[in-house]
Amino acid sequence: MTLRFRDTLTGETRPFQPLQAGRVGIYSCGPTVYGPSHIGNFRSFLFADVLVRYLRYRGFDVTWVMNITDVDDKIIRGASEADVSIGELAGRWLERFLDDARALRMTPPDVLPRATAHIEEMVSLVQTLLDKGHAYRTEDGSIFYRIGSWPSYGRLARLDPDQLRVGERVEADEYGKADVRDFALWKAPKPGEPSWDTALGPGRPGWHIECSAMSMAYLGPSFDIHTGGIDLIFPHHEDEIAQSEAATGLPFVGTWLHCDHLRLGGAKMAKSTGNISRVVELLEGGVSPRALRYALIAVHYRQGVDYSPASLAAAAAAIERLDALDLALDSYTEDRRDSTDLPGVLDENRSRFEAAMDDDLNVSAALAALFDLARELNRRIADRSMSSADASRALGFLRDLDRVLAILPDEAPDLPAGAADLLSQRETARANRDWAASDRLRDELAGLGVVVEDTRDGQRWRRLETV
Ligand SMILES: [Zn+2]
Repeated sequence: MTLRFRDTLTGETRPFQPLQAGRVGIYSCGPTVYGPSHIGNFRSFLFADVLVRYLRYRGFDVTWVMNITDVDDKIIRGASEADVSIGELAGRWLERFLDDARALRMTPPDVLPRATAHIEEMVSLVQTLLDKGHAYRTEDGSIFYRIGSWPSYGRLARLDPDQLRVGERVEADEYGKADVRDFALWKAPKPGEPSWDTALGPGRPGWHIECSAMSMAYLGPSFDIHTGGIDLIFPHHEDEIAQSEAATGLPFVGTWLHCDHLRLGGAKMAKSTGNISRVVELLEGGVSPRALRYALIAVHYRQGVDYSPASLAAAAAAIERLDALDLALDSYTEDRRDSTDLPGVLDENRSRFEAAMDDDLNVSAALAALFDLARELNRRIADRSMSSADASRALGFLRDLDRVLAILPDEAPDLPAGAADLLSQRETARANRDWAASDRLRDELAGLGVVVEDTRDGQRWRRLETV
């Protein structure tokens, strides 16, 4: 089986071939840092995270770039409402985004370029487009991309270029456009808005040019994979292709991967509809970050996800099953000969897992393989048919696959203060057959978020995953 992806531009599912053997450059449209991220944003970011993790698991040397949009209309409005600079507002929400990303175990991107630190690259790209006749200046000093100069415009979104944006409301400051479909590369300064003095004159970049300039700055004029949510296909990614390819004359991206929406209560999840679930609010409300991660990654990225308290509870139950298995394998001891068929079972399971992931990142099929294995291992634990070495081999196997999914518990979770003492008191109580004390101590531990179970291998504990 070879690794295959479905490319949005061609609509084809093709074997993946990076430009340079063994190396992969990936660019993901990142957050606009003007407020808390909602889980819809993180569905797209965690999809890219699983992609990066799987390519690394497969042995590729991956460079992952995710931009931070720290200047745009929403940030300018937010900063003026909060009476702070755009730098201050963006800095605050960037920190929050990074905290959420860490909690949800997103791999840190190799580069997190901020738009305001790359104005020069954007200016030079816009200058090239002016020089080549793909852009023009309006009276106020704004610069627009001339869509009429790029015949393949609309190919990514499968739109007829002649029909684009006809009837779209024209912004008051865009009346100088030659064609209603043209989009802003550079915006002339307006009172109360941040502006940079550049070779193009004063002003600020449009949003689309940010991603072309920053992706090419770190990954070169042509790179392997570009990801984003499907809502970015048009116009954002269509505009990125037009700008980049018109400027360089080279193919911009090898494979476009787009993640479908997260729906809340059946409706597309977006700020405009008001049905937001912010990551920070969920986590502060006691939702387990691993359960949330699971709920966001478990469905194939090209399918919509219906997010609800029920889907989160199902994710938490799946995490609980994995935690219980992890713990059971970790504490399992049995002095017997190694099982002869376990290596074969693990190998076959790895093949199933990899075949699923190779098939355009079919995470749900990969998880099905994982849970089939979990059932099999639980059976072997229950009938004590594994040796101690078998159990640790199985645990090592699960942890190896978890490089891709990142849903297993940390290897040595910390006990909350006081819990270690209660656990050892309880061990003594059980040795003395003082069941009343043992039960009381179990309740006290539960109060600290520690679940205790009594097994043939002695007392086992784990942190309680709450929803
Ligand atoms: Zn972008």
